Amino acid sequence: MSQLITTTKPVAEKSLLIGIDSPYERSHLDVEESLEELGALLRASGAEVLGSVIVKQRKPTPAAYITESKLEEVAVLVAEMDANLVVFDVELNQRQVGNCERILDCGVIDRTWAILDIFALHASSAEGKIAVELAMLSYLLPHLTGKGRDLSRLGGGIGTRGPGETKLETDRRRVRQRIAKLKKDLAQIERRRRVGSRIRRAPGGPFKVALVGYTNSGKTTLLNTLTSSDAFTEDGFFSTLDPTTRRLTFEGGREVVFSDTVGFICKLPHQLVEGFRATLEEVVVADLIMLVADAEDQRLPAQLEVVEEVLESLSASQIPRLLVLNKRDKLGIQELSARMQMRSEAVAISALTGENLDGLMAMVEEQAMRNMVCVRARFSGGDKAIIKRFRRLAQVIGETTSPTNEVVIEAWVHRELAERFKGLEYIG
Ligand code: GDP
Ligand code: MG
Repeated sequence: MSQLITTTKPVAEKSLLIGIDSPYERSHLDVEESLEELGALLRASGAEVLGSVIVKQRKPTPAAYITESKLEEVAVLVAEMDANLVVFDVELNQRQVGNCERILDCGVIDRTWAILDIFALHASSAEGKIAVELAMLSYLLPHLTGKGRDLSRLGGGIGTRGPGETKLETDRRRVRQRIAKLKKDLAQIERRRRVGSRIRRAPGGPFKVALVGYTNSGKTTLLNTLTSSDAFTEDGFFSTLDPTTRRLTFEGGREVVFSDTVGFICKLPHQLVEGFRATLEEVVVADLIMLVADAEDQRLPAQLEVVEEVLESLSASQIPRLLVLNKRDKLGIQELSARMQMRSEAVAISALTGENLDGLMAMVEEQAMRNMVCVRARFSGGDKAIIKRFRRLAQVIGETTSPTNEVVIEAWVHRELAERFKGLEYIG
């Protein structure tokens, strides 16, 4: 059975966010913080967020969560801004979604769905994709009530035996079957991964740095500032591989690849906890985890604890860690030194102003160069297997084949590895 879901992609839409100020919406984030987090997540995925409004609503209404008169006001804004998606920063049921869509005359999704969709976009491995689909179906199943527009959220694969109970039953059964199948697949992949994790860390290729941290801590800004900054043109250069990856080539040819990750979220839908781990798979293969934190954030200690926990559950606690306290421009000297006393191993930077990025890169370079040597290796063109093995274990800088069919490869390799290959010439 193929994938059942086609969705309204918040990342492809021009959206307006609605925050709800209500004693019924309890969270350790206040309305503004929560909206900011949601907006940052959407923007990070390439969405256009036109703006946000906060609606005061003491108690949610069963019909549309907010009162019809307030909805009418929002409808005016939607039309003025030419928005085609409204994202409610709370959880809505299907009846509420349907009514809101009718009055607002545009697509409506809730916070959970928006986050699920962003995760779907970021999931690149088979495991990540399955985990997110599983989360989406688990979220949808209790919402399949047969009323309103609920089934429109489920695309192609869903049976079309006509309206009413029969179709509903079929839909429910198919969703349950699909959930069972996905769970089985996931368990199988996890078993395989456990076996694979022992051999996964091949020493070859560029040095891999994963940027990990809460949404809004400045990961994306850091990547972008690094790429556009002149500060490194002397020692190396940055290039963009894809929206979430940057490659830095140090003088001498040693490469470092930085990957942005989807980011930790304070209000994470419970359906997603598993999928969330799966989307952090870049972290598992990293040579260095750069933990980016907002130095100003009062919740820093608690957030770092959560991050540690997740890394542990990913079996990534053994990977070297670098704690980066970002946004130092927002702190006074005293505040900053208090923070640094708390975490003395940290590097304080400002991704926005570029302050101390050279210090940070020096630390990355030191890690990337540790135990690496630059060599020139000569092989006879017939030694295909050995050449292949060398390429896999090294980070190749250049390769030529002479008229006499001699293959010359220049590369960075781990010192221990260099000792195992005969006849290498050390060049750096
Ligand atoms: P991400 O979610 O971790 O990728 O965070 P972003 O890079 O999107 O940054 C979130 C917000 O913090 C944006 O508004 C940035 O402009 C701001 N920001 C990032 N780095 C800094 C910094 O060093 N100083 C200040 N003052 N703001 C920053
Ligand atoms: Mg980001």
